[in-house]
Amino acid sequence: MSKSITIFSIQKVLRELKKEEEKSQDPRTKVGCILTDGQGIIVARGHNRLPVTLQVQKTDWSLAIKNDLVIHAEMVAILTLVKLDHQPKKLIAWISHFPCKECAKILIDSGIKKIKYRINKYPRRNLYVVSKKILSRAEVPFSKISVKTNHPFD
Ligand SMILES: [Zn+2]
Repeated sequence: MSKSITIFSIQKVLRELKKEEEKSQDPRTKVGCILTDGQGIIVARGHNRLPVTLQVQKTDWSLAIKNDLVIHAEMVAILTLVKLDHQPKKLIAWISHFPCKECAKILIDSGIKKIKYRINKYPRRNLYVVSKKILSRAEVPFSKISVKTNHPFD
């Protein structure tokens, strides 16, 4: 049986994801994204939110409006990474939900090497089916986060 590494654990990722999800003001869908380098160090994080420069109104989170305004957690994390102006190697994206096709494009273009997600709520919806095709074509592996794994980077 292989030995667990101690500097980084799935439990820690899930805790950090939960913290990030809780920051979201979306009353229905709370999504977090954590980017780690190859050593398991968290280099950026994000949650689904509205643009900070907007004067947010209560109705902005209504279903009719939020999809036009919301920035997905993955994009917020990538934006944070860009603002940090450094390029860590072998980045892994840990995400609450399987990424949509727009986020998949941003993630592969940012050099993310692997995607780990907690749940895929709508696997049959076109934007997730297309997302899988994009990730496969870019040869970026994706898999559900498993608490049973001994090595979190597998
Ligand atoms: Zn997305």
